[in-house]
Amino acid sequence: MTTTAQTAAFEALASGMRGPVIQPGDEGYDAARAVYNAMIDRRPAAIARCADVADVITAVRFAGEHDLTVSVRGGGHNAAGLGVWDDALVIDLSAMRGIRVDPAAKTVRAQGGCVWADVDHATGAFGLAVPSGILGSTGVAGLTLGGGTGHLSRRFGLTIDNLLSADVVLADGSFVTASAQEHPDLFWALRGGGGNFGVVTSFKFRGQDVGTVVAGPVFYDIADTSGVMRWYREVQPSLPEELNGWCALLTIPPGPPFPEPLWLRKVCGIVWSYTGPAERADEVLAPVRGFGSPVLDAIMPMPYPVLQGMFDALFPPGLQWYWRADFFNQIPDQAIAVHQEFGEALPTMLSTMHLYPVDGAVHRVGAESTAFAYRDAGWNGVIVGVDPDPANAGKIKDWTVRYWEALHPTSAGGAYVNFMMDEGTDRVRASYGRNYDRLARVKTVYDPGNFFRINQNVTPAG
Ligand SMILES: Cc1cc2nc3c(=O)[nH]c(=O)nc-3n(C[C@H](O)[C@H](O)[C@H](O)COP(=O)(O)OP(=O)(O)OC[C@H]3O[C@@H](n4cnc5c(N)ncnc54)[C@H](O)[C@@H]3O)c2cc1C
Repeated sequence: MTTTAQTAAFEALASGMRGPVIQPGDEGYDAARAVYNAMIDRRPAAIARCADVADVITAVRFAGEHDLTVSVRGGGHNAAGLGVWDDALVIDLSAMRGIRVDPAAKTVRAQGGCVWADVDHATGAFGLAVPSGILGSTGVAGLTLGGGTGHLSRRFGLTIDNLLSADVVLADGSFVTASAQEHPDLFWALRGGGGNFGVVTSFKFRGQDVGTVVAGPVFYDIADTSGVMRWYREVQPSLPEELNGWCALLTIPPGPPFPEPLWLRKVCGIVWSYTGPAERADEVLAPVRGFGSPVLDAIMPMPYPVLQGMFDALFPPGLQWYWRADFFNQIPDQAIAVHQEFGEALPTMLSTMHLYPVDGAVHRVGAESTAFAYRDAGWNGVIVGVDPDPANAGKIKDWTVRYWEALHPTSAGGAYVNFMMDEGTDRVRASYGRNYDRLARVKTVYDPGNFFRINQNVTPAG
């Protein structure tokens, strides 16, 4: 299409939508194409900011009729920036953030553009929570479709283990609800298969009873990393499932609430969260609080939404991010030596490494029951180089890649799809693992033309 014809076509699209269609040159275009990771700088042909399901259907049909590449944007948090794409029509759900909590049924319906802070705010009022990630600003859609791991995973499973149904606009513009009863093959694929199968316009989750939690980080000097990790790899699996601890290498930020003598100190930390009965908190936490010589123990009672928002101010939108990830079955001494070396060499104040436990309730769901491929792993690891200054992009990328290359031989082979950059088809196959072929068969049924391909892509089976 010529530019004039394209502009006219998008104007026709806009006339059929309640939400705006934002084109290059329009006021707000740069803000609309920006995503969380400022390393991503893509220029879509247009952004269809959908107001409702009808808008999504209209935009999908329009893209099909005009043979346009489509990207789908939920929270815009994806490391690889897969919500926006050069010359594509972005189907942007960021204005679709409605939520309805049914406190009697303990269910939560969230539209496809919600971020987790929206859900935590809505559910917290009822003493409920949907297991999700560790940041409020992450999108519900992308996180859920990849699996969803966070503070509540050991006790209540992945986010997908709490998904009851999803409303989906398919590649041909038709609308279906996927659940255990309806389109069960699609429901299986949505739970770990990413954005490959359609635009999810709303999710229905089971809410869990979570009110006040006893949570926070315990930090040890970076020099103690090896000892802390050797202890952590043994103790975490032996703890009650009400207690979740993920391990991190980081730099203590220079500001309140941290004590000034600790500012900019590199540390190995465990972020603990206890969700069991309050009267048992001291007893359950005693063994982990009693270990070693922490430089800071900041565990305290707090409402669950406060825990969820704890790191949001530290990681605002607009930073440079470079990611690498893998699942791990064990944390051998060889891996710990790598963590020690690269932890001491954290390249910037915000760069970090996280190891999230994959056990408890996550292991109780059958390995083939959902598309999430690494249920039997022990840990979900991610290395992220982060900095506000684009001039440091090379430095954070170099540290991340070298760290990952040193660690990868100790991994289970593939990564959590939500922690991946654009890493090529072999990596995508390794990360969907044993589920790849079945995902490809489901893709053939629901998206035979690979209309939804701007994602960690599963190509339709031949
Ligand atoms: C700082 C940070 C912290 C994170 N912490 C965690 C964590 O604790 N646990 C965890 O599990 N993950 C975590 N993640 C990873 C996160 O799950 C992914 O980045 C995820 O892709 C974000 O989803 P989104 O909707 O915000 O992303 P987007 O960039 O909007 O989209 C990501 C992908 O999902 C697809 N998609 C988005 N919306 C829809 C939709 N409505 N229907 C169909 N497909 C859609 C897109 O096409 C794209 O392929 C974190 C990410 C960041 C940046």
